[in-house]
Amino acid sequence: MIILKIGGSILTNKDSKESEVDTESLKRIASEIKSSLDNSYKELIIVHGAGSFGHPPAKKYKIGEAFDESEYPQKRIGFCETQNAVKELNMHICKAFIEQGLPVVAIPASSFMTATNKRITEGNLDSFKRYLNKGFIPVIYGDVVLDNELEICVISGDQLIQYLAVNLNPDQVILGTDVDGVYNKNPKTHDDAIFFDKFSSLDDLDTLEGTTNVDVTGGMVGKIKELLYLADLGIESKIINAEVENNVFKVLENEKVKGTVISRGN
Ligand code: ADP
Repeated sequence: MIILKIGGSILTNKDSKESEVDTESLKRIASEIKSSLDNSYKELIIVHGAGSFGHPPAKKYKIGEAFDESEYPQKRIGFCETQNAVKELNMHICKAFIEQGLPVVAIPASSFMTATNKRITEGNLDSFKRYLNKGFIPVIYGDVVLDNELEICVISGDQLIQYLAVNLNPDQVILGTDVDGVYNKNPKTHDDAIFFDKFSSLDDLDTLEGTTNVDVTGGMVGKIKELLYLADLGIESKIINAEVENNVFKVLENEKVKGTVISRGN
């Protein structure tokens, strides 16, 4: 089984205030996945980020921050707005995938997962296994969920990757984003950033700058933390640049692709 995350940074225009799908990237990535599955059947789970759809409402309503009982009506609406926004992005993505002939089925986190202090603590994955057994491709995405401590919170696609990998024991965990992998500092703002083929500790970062984009879920640092947790359990993951044509196809085919492997080994 392969768990493939497609970053919100590639699927949407994250810098934009408006919800905007990058239809060209989406179509290209869908067709790369289809070509690989046509080459040989693979069990695949797709995770995607929320990009410019989920972050603005989550930020506006400060979802995940403690609040007074009197603020509940507003928070509830914020939860609904966010859930609806990420669902809208998911519908665009699933539509593009189905058009390419990929049998995707959306399984939203808000419908079956619960968190405690922003970490997923409940979420039965049996339906993932059942859909996989029948040849479907389950799709899950960054979403809002109920939280036992904070009432409501945001769950990032990166946390979902971690939860799925811990519980489903995949052969490969791949994250496609808009940079080649992990650098010692943000390559978008630092020309002298040094690229890592392998990454094993947060100490290797010069700065803990999250991301250039509006992101309430931690950007690259949040991503790395989730993946280091997996590395501690012996589950290796790889970050690649999904903006580079054919990278998604190649990585699914086990061909060499530039990227950063996150593992605790040498
Ligand atoms: P996605 O939406 O694809 O999951 P994010 O936008 O959350 O991705 O994170 C990717 C972004 O993180 C990159 O566009 C880059 O600008 C930023 N970033 C910040 N620090 C680093 C770093 N040390 N190495 C690589 N990218 C970094």
